[in-house]
Amino acid sequence: MRSPLLTKASHLCKGTTMESDVCSHVRVVVRVRPTTEREKTENCRSVVQVVDNHMLIFDPKEEDASCFGSQRVRNKNINKRANKDLKFVFDQVFGEESTQDDLFEGTTKAVLDGVMNGFNCTVFAYGATGAGKTHTMLGAQNDPGVMYRTMTELFKRMEDAKEEKEFTVAFSYFEVYNEQIRDLLANIGPLAVREDSSKGVVVQGLTLHKPKSAAHILEALDSGNRNRTQHPTDMNANSSRSHAVFQIYLRQQDKTASLNPNACVAKLSLIDLAGSERASATNAKAARLREGANINKSLLALGNVINALADPKNKKTHIPYRDSKLTRLLKDSLGGNCRTVMIANVSPSSKSYDDTHNTLKYANRAKEIKSSLKSNV
Ligand code: ADP
Ligand code: MG
Repeated sequence: MRSPLLTKASHLCKGTTMESDVCSHVRVVVRVRPTTEREKTENCRSVVQVVDNHMLIFDPKEEDASCFGSQRVRNKNINKRANKDLKFVFDQVFGEESTQDDLFEGTTKAVLDGVMNGFNCTVFAYGATGAGKTHTMLGAQNDPGVMYRTMTELFKRMEDAKEEKEFTVAFSYFEVYNEQIRDLLANIGPLAVREDSSKGVVVQGLTLHKPKSAAHILEALDSGNRNRTQHPTDMNANSSRSHAVFQIYLRQQDKTASLNPNACVAKLSLIDLAGSERASATNAKAARLREGANINKSLLALGNVINALADPKNKKTHIPYRDSKLTRLLKDSLGGNCRTVMIANVSPSSKSYDDTHNTLKYANRAKEIKSSLKSNV
């Protein structure tokens, strides 16, 4: 099914007010994944200490750090302490014990309020390969992630409001790889992106699909993921080298059309970003280096856009959307009244010391949160 109709830019729904505090529309949270069995057997130490719901310490003092293995190996490479006691404060910190439901409740659920009010919203998972991005967004069949839970909640909300409103839902799933867009559900590409003054950002030729149920979407995402560009790197046998963008389009119209004849259309983007590790960490050859350069470019551009949007001092004269394909695509879904959640995924293991440090710095820069205990970076 192809329907450009549903890619229309959002109109405000009846009763929705415009808010000017952009800052509150950007949330940055961190999720620390559990230690793997392998990390335990390798006696890596934990380099992340979760202090409370908002604060964590990177590279804590040895007595505060847990050691995964039965005995600590004094291996300088995997157990180095280079930075020591860096305190980071975020909108929320989810520790190793956090469940998929905790993540959904603490991130995307509130975003759905924005979508139901007609605003475009974006949630993305950032982090190095193996840090837990796909687990957070897609999850497993028996423990689905944010994407599935979002759809289940959306179906519930539509059911609750069906007396007053008529809803139409559609979804698409595509990847951005090497600055090119490919439809993961139809396996076609590269597709062009253009901006339309009334429809917002449009990917030409992208297939839209009508969901029968939340479970149907999960199947579609699963099959789409098999089309995703992956390459084995030293970090992971299945390293995702593309940004996977799942978009849900919700069109709603009052049944009493005389009160509000305009349909309101909103777009929710849920994004599993490509691994943020440095190219050198993947023992890269030429093609992988180009891939890595494009990934770095788009992640840098995304960080710059969020930083510009989250800075209350920024008068929004220039938001650098045009610096990458990913940010161009999200131009109508980041900023203004759009709600944005960035989930920074990190591993607690000393084996991922640099990746975890880099992810925390990136997340911190995306939105520096003022606190009485100032962050050190
Ligand atoms: P990424 O997508 O960032 O490369 P994955 O989501 O594939 O990382 O996670 C790497 C491994 O860790 C997978 O085997 C995944 O199932 C597991 N994992 C990640 N996060 C969690 C979590 N919160 N709870 C349990 N297992 C997790
Ligand atoms: Mg992944």
